[in-house]
Amino acid sequence: MESTQAKQFRERIKDKHRIVIKVGSASLVHENTGEINFLKLEQLVRLICDLRNQDKDIILVSSGAIGVGRKALGLSKRPDTLPLKQACASVGQAVLMMMYQKLFGEYNHTASQILMTKHTIIRPISCKNAKNTFNQLLSMGVVPIVNENDTISTDEIEFGDNDTLSAVVAALSGADLLILLSDIDGLYTKDPTKYSDARFIECVPEIDDKLYAMAGGAVSDFGTGGMVTKIDAARIAADAGCDMIIANGRDFHVIPRIMAGENIGTLFLAHKNKNFDLAYYIEHRKCRKDS
Ligand code: GLU
Repeated sequence: MESTQAKQFRERIKDKHRIVIKVGSASLVHENTGEINFLKLEQLVRLICDLRNQDKDIILVSSGAIGVGRKALGLSKRPDTLPLKQACASVGQAVLMMMYQKLFGEYNHTASQILMTKHTIIRPISCKNAKNTFNQLLSMGVVPIVNENDTISTDEIEFGDNDTLSAVVAALSGADLLILLSDIDGLYTKDPTKYSDARFIECVPEIDDKLYAMAGGAVSDFGTGGMVTKIDAARIAADAGCDMIIANGRDFHVIPRIMAGENIGTLFLAHKNKNFDLAYYIEHRKCRKDS
């Protein structure tokens, strides 16, 4: 892609109005202890409030329930049974929300909680209700904070990862930009930790099998959700008419820089598909496993 064209796509980011921001657990806790990183949490909330003050609609998809719950319960190792994971999620989600409520309150903004499962999307009534709730909250200036309902989710009804969940939320809420912040800079042609000739991809105009093959073959074990999962998310977003950017959540100040049109991370361009049926897609999708 020509650099002038790529620049134009980045310029357009400034005008995005409804933005979903996804942060992974790794971006919210200290690496060495797994405890909440208060400085980062505070920074994230402040940056989101600043976007609200520019009249942008913001939805935050935040992970961390299980990890934070594990710490709150004083468990020395990762929960390894489903009931234990669900108990951790139940405690951790409440702790996380308490922190978010407090911090958003300090900046005079209101946050809310929405917990979802696959059933929320597949069942037409709950899908419609969820959509209405998002619209109502956003019209009142509230920042909805979304997570998977890990306390009741089991294999059959879970999205499984918040990359997919955030794309679903973007589609459902009619967002025009999804920002995925995780522990990777974006998409490379090869795993940059192994190959010195790996090239960074700044813009993906179209998601095709070649891209999947590249991500699955070369960059898979690189990052938490896996690159294939992220490309799956980009596909949902693109079909729904929403641009998506993958960037590194190491420093949340990338958020205002992205919004200012800076060339940060990998941008996947929207291609609105008017035949795209979100519920059908979620019900029938086969997970392309990260190898
Ligand atoms: N829902 C999970 C949690 O809050 C995280 C899933 C993910 O990060 O992909 O712990």
